[in-house]
Amino acid sequence: MHTATDPLIEMLTRLKLTAIRDQLDSLLDEAARAQLSMRESLSLLCQREIARKDERRIEMSMGLARFPFARDLAGFDFSAQPSIDKAQIRELASGRFIANGQTVLFLGPPGVGKSHLAVAIGREAITAGYTVLFVSAQSLVAQLAAAHHDGRLEERLVHFGKPKLLIIDELGYLPFEPNAAHLFFQLVSRRYERGSLLITSNRAVSEWGGVFGDVVVATAILDRLLHHSHVITIRGDSYRLREKRRSGLLTKTAATVKEPG
Ligand code: ADP
Ligand code: MG
Repeated sequence: MHTATDPLIEMLTRLKLTAIRDQLDSLLDEAARAQLSMRESLSLLCQREIARKDERRIEMSMGLARFPFARDLAGFDFSAQPSIDKAQIRELASGRFIANGQTVLFLGPPGVGKSHLAVAIGREAITAGYTVLFVSAQSLVAQLAAAHHDGRLEERLVHFGKPKLLIIDELGYLPFEPNAAHLFFQLVSRRYERGSLLITSNRAVSEWGGVFGDVVVATAILDRLLHHSHVITIRGDSYRLREKRRSGLLTKTAATVKEPG
């Protein structure tokens, strides 16, 4: 045990080497038992400090990202969704599209896993060292509109412009207010070739004119979004309903059951 006045502990505190400080005795024991050289011991201490700092950074970034729920790639059943190319999702999870400032669009009907994959890719991006922010399209536009109204649009554009990856979920589920197209256009222009966007939508790109209520601005938005983009169209049935159907089948006797469709 160390007393509060142990000068070594004080120096480690001052240098913010808190992992080394907190585990000092056990780390020194470990180094002695393994008969590590001075250099190897120092390397061991640094490894533990870096591991702790990485852990903290990830924990902090996960909180700042505001994911609506916890989902990861390991929890995604690729066999249930044959329209998805697993290798392509793995490639996206590597974060290379973020380094290249590219856009990802997940398109498809409700319940097919768009938001699940968006969160999973966002989490992988944080682990890889990128900053991420998740927001629903509805909330994004509402925040931009309110800021615009208060004369603080620039501030909000900076906020949504900052993260390396901005995930915009559920574009097209609800109609936008009249000003939305212009506000969204400003955001997309702001991020264009500076940061990545990942957008999920239940509407085909051809319907976005209707979503934004302005074909000209929607075309300008799409022009930027599709320039460097990966468009992933997911087909098939809702995973949730599928699970329900399955559990429903289990409670009936096989003879009376007919698969629908
Ligand atoms: P979407 O955003 O396309 O409407 P979600 O991603 O919200 O759909 O998926 C609905 C629910 O079903 C979520 O709880 C999600 O985790 C789950 N889900 C969807 N597809 C799969 C899948 N292939 N494997 C595991 N869970 C899935
Ligand atoms: Mg969704």
